[in-house]
Amino acid sequence: MTDAAALPGQPRGSVLSGPATARAVSVLAPNPSPMTLDGTNTWIVSEPDSDLAVVIDPGPLDDVHLEAVVAAVGKAGKRVALTLLTHGHADHAEGAARFAELTRTSVRALDPALRLGDEGLAAGDVITTGGLELRVVPTPGHTADSLCFHLPADRAVLTGDTILGRGTTVVAHPDGRLGDYLDSLRRLRSLAVDDGVRTVLPGHGPVLDDAQGAVEFYLAHRAHRLAQVETAVENGLRTPSEVVAEVYAAVDRSLWPAAELSVRAQLEYLSEHGLI
Ligand SMILES: [Zn+2]
Repeated sequence: MTDAAALPGQPRGSVLSGPATARAVSVLAPNPSPMTLDGTNTWIVSEPDSDLAVVIDPGPLDDVHLEAVVAAVGKAGKRVALTLLTHGHADHAEGAARFAELTRTSVRALDPALRLGDEGLAAGDVITTGGLELRVVPTPGHTADSLCFHLPADRAVLTGDTILGRGTTVVAHPDGRLGDYLDSLRRLRSLAVDDGVRTVLPGHGPVLDDAQGAVEFYLAHRAHRLAQVETAVENGLRTPSEVVAEVYAAVDRSLWPAAELSVRAQLEYLSEHGLI
């Protein structure tokens, strides 16, 4: 994301991006970490000629950030009409209730526990706020409740943590399951190949302009890791932590707890398929 500029009056640095597509702009939350990369991307999506905006993933419970998002929408001459969540992890969803209070909007999510208001969110739903068209694409795997939002007018997809702008994501076992995740990646590949999606607007990291390439990279990475885990087990490693130390040796140790969740998901997948 180039031409980023700090919002005026934001000492802790929520950062408004330049337009990622004609209809999408992000505000970066000040919560960087090895797991969240530069921080959470809170997405503001709207039709250019509409005064209604949809916010996807308000981010952590941080009033400075939430108010920066409201200010960015206001600066564009719009108001927030609806809040959506890609999934329930705290770095995406923890601020949702407070954001809904600030904007007097409802929150829609797949997980009923995250909803505020009457409406849920399900596969095949189409959001039509202010003339915007956002199609709900179920993409379980990172978590069971993970969704992507297809923005056909911009040939873009908002991916939450299912595809990140840099590196790869965690399959958060036991809630996240590898078989589901691979199916979800194939669903995203079909969005690129059959529906012309070009741009990935991720929950963390920079915008990607080759959606199909990103999906193919993720599928190849998962196949490679799975083969490594299978080999490690064949070589006599038994516990998830032993497998992590072998397969993720080159990865920063701060990421090993997350890697262990992915390893557990891979061991489950291999055993379900009779491969170990
Ligand atoms: Zn997540």
